[in-house]
Amino acid sequence: MLTQVHLLLTYQCTFECDHCFLYSSPFSEGTMTLRTIQQVLEEARKTGSVRWIYFEGGEPFLYYALLLEGVKIARLAGFRVGIVTNAYWATSEEDAEIWLKPFQNIGLDYLSISDDSFHYGEAENNSAKWALSAAQKLGMQTSSICISEPYVDEQPGQGQGKGTPVIGGGAMFKGRAVEKLTGGLPRRPWHELNQCPHEELQSPSRVHVDPYGHVQACQGISLGNMFEKPLSVLLERYNVDSHPICALLARGGPAALAEKYRVEPENDYIDECHFCYLVRRALIDRFPKFLAPRQVYGLQANN
Ligand code: SF4
Repeated sequence: MLTQVHLLLTYQCTFECDHCFLYSSPFSEGTMTLRTIQQVLEEARKTGSVRWIYFEGGEPFLYYALLLEGVKIARLAGFRVGIVTNAYWATSEEDAEIWLKPFQNIGLDYLSISDDSFHYGEAENNSAKWALSAAQKLGMQTSSICISEPYVDEQPGQGQGKGTPVIGGGAMFKGRAVEKLTGGLPRRPWHELNQCPHEELQSPSRVHVDPYGHVQACQGISLGNMFEKPLSVLLERYNVDSHPICALLARGGPAALAEKYRVEPENDYIDECHFCYLVRRALIDRFPKFLAPRQVYGLQANN
């Protein structure tokens, strides 16, 4: 059951992180309008099941006035609301309070802050830490997300086969991470990558909606476009078996996707997402409506 809608308020960001699965950067295009936010919220209400609205990006604080208004109308519509930010705007703890106070006043429910070496190097004091303290001081619910350079954990995790290396650090191998972070990591045979470990593709509990209207089950997998079909209708009519990408991923992971559409695997891959992303990128011209937008594959946009 769908319970969360995540709005990608903008693809633009102050950073250009190696682990970003949306290929966001200061030069990325695509920012929502207030009208689009209103449309998403109206449609989310019609589903009857959505409880949470998240504003993220890119970096949503780049469009501060729009973000504030978006949170306000989402709260007035009865949703619980969260924001994900890199906190670039926090130039000191005191100043961070000024930025956050208006969100506290309108009842923001949750603030998630990226605080890691990709964003701030090894600095002890940084914007993320100032924003975190300011939010705590204001009594806001908050936490930080910390992703590090991938490393090999010698202890196999639960459910892994004996001797299967586990990659630590928390990066997902899709988007820019595939270009920047995959070197030197251990690989697994492609035919073992036969499930999607992270998304509920049969019946998504969350979707991401972007400024172009793409409703994404996972970054770059579109269930349809809300400017062509209203979001609530699109979600109600979604049937995994009639989606040419999700049907295969749900049945047999990226291995099934590659086999069905005869994408020749290049030996081995780090994990399911690494293989999935590369197979999808190879298929993008064949399924332009379902593999969108192109910019999250690092390709020239024609959104
Ligand atoms: S396997 Fe594919 S669909 Fe599943 S989470 Fe990874 S990238 Fe997304």
